[in-house]
Amino acid sequence: MKPLQMVDLQRQYQKIKPEMDAAIQAVIDSAAFVKGAQVEQFARNLEAYTGAKHVIPVANGTEALQIALMALGLRPGDEVITPTFTFIATAEVVALLGLTPVVVDVEWGTMNMSVEAVRKAITPRTKAIVPVHLFGQCADMEPLLNLAREHHLYVVEDTAQAIGARYTFSDGRTAQAGTMGEIGCTSFFPSKNLGCYGDGGALFTNDDTLAESIRVIANHGMKVRYHHDMIGVNSRLDTIQAAILDTKLPHLDEYIAARQAAADYYDRAFAGNEHILTPERAAYSTHVFHQYTLRLVGVDRDQVRARLTEAKVPAMIYYPIPLHLQKAYQDPRYKAGDFPVAEKLAACVLSLPMHTELDDEQLAYITQQVISAVNA
Ligand SMILES: *Cc1c(COP(=O)(O)O)cnc(C)c1O
Repeated sequence: MKPLQMVDLQRQYQKIKPEMDAAIQAVIDSAAFVKGAQVEQFARNLEAYTGAKHVIPVANGTEALQIALMALGLRPGDEVITPTFTFIATAEVVALLGLTPVVVDVEWGTMNMSVEAVRKAITPRTKAIVPVHLFGQCADMEPLLNLAREHHLYVVEDTAQAIGARYTFSDGRTAQAGTMGEIGCTSFFPSKNLGCYGDGGALFTNDDTLAESIRVIANHGMKVRYHHDMIGVNSRLDTIQAAILDTKLPHLDEYIAARQAAADYYDRAFAGNEHILTPERAAYSTHVFHQYTLRLVGVDRDQVRARLTEAKVPAMIYYPIPLHLQKAYQDPRYKAGDFPVAEKLAACVLSLPMHTELDDEQLAYITQQVISAVNA
């Protein structure tokens, strides 16, 4: 059996090596390392794939989130609602900009932001909601968008883990993750579902004015060269990374299908085990399985993980500490016990290897080892 990894990027590369090497070589030959033609070409192709009117590539997903909040003109003191069970980037940029992060609890089954919790967290100072489509499945966007409309709030989707996931509205209309709110932000970190060979990110928007602001902010606040109308940042996607992404984009649907097939295997193998709760599949969204995350009940998660490590099955805890319990984000408004679902998840989640190259032999071994580790 091939050794197990959380993510196997080597074998994925080997399958597309000739076209990938040629794409990278073309950039080196052109020496257009910054703002080369491949950047715009990739952006146009990703617009076609996602259905977003504008895709604006930037340096990474965290900066995409920061630029989004800057483009919306949020001011210090404005409150931004985000789930407490997520990767830190979401709240980090809120805090960096002097905005006030307001965290809310998540749902036990989907592990995504609870819309009811958002409703209760809205105050006269609330300006934006940042749902995270965690692990590859959309948060419940329709009630969230309705709530935002009712209270005149912006919605910025963090779709770093969910590129290609599709949400279905009650009237049957569908939309891709990242294209439903005012702005969507994604990451092309190597292990993400569409990953480059370094750092990368992008913003999605259907709004022409916002697209223009985003482009200006990402380019030092500069529309006319050396004329700075606003304070911006320097956030660019390198041409080599754009060429890599443009080479991988036509494969994204098969990559997603491979992840879904692995997830289906896991679901079947764990069905009915009293200690293992598999990820809930919401009726309103497809799941692109950036992570396959179990909730372990009635067993010691850390012991299970230790047994898996012994058996050479990697498993990770995404995420062990909710935002409101992180040292840097301590806030007199929050204390342990305030967000019971997130705290319970932090103590019981375990993510299994999930990537495009898992074969049946590996899946059989992983599932056998997980089952014997929880039953030990
Ligand atoms: C990866 C990730 C980010 C940040 O992306 P970077 O490109 O690493 O800056 C933001 N939010 C979530 C939910 C992520 O998973």
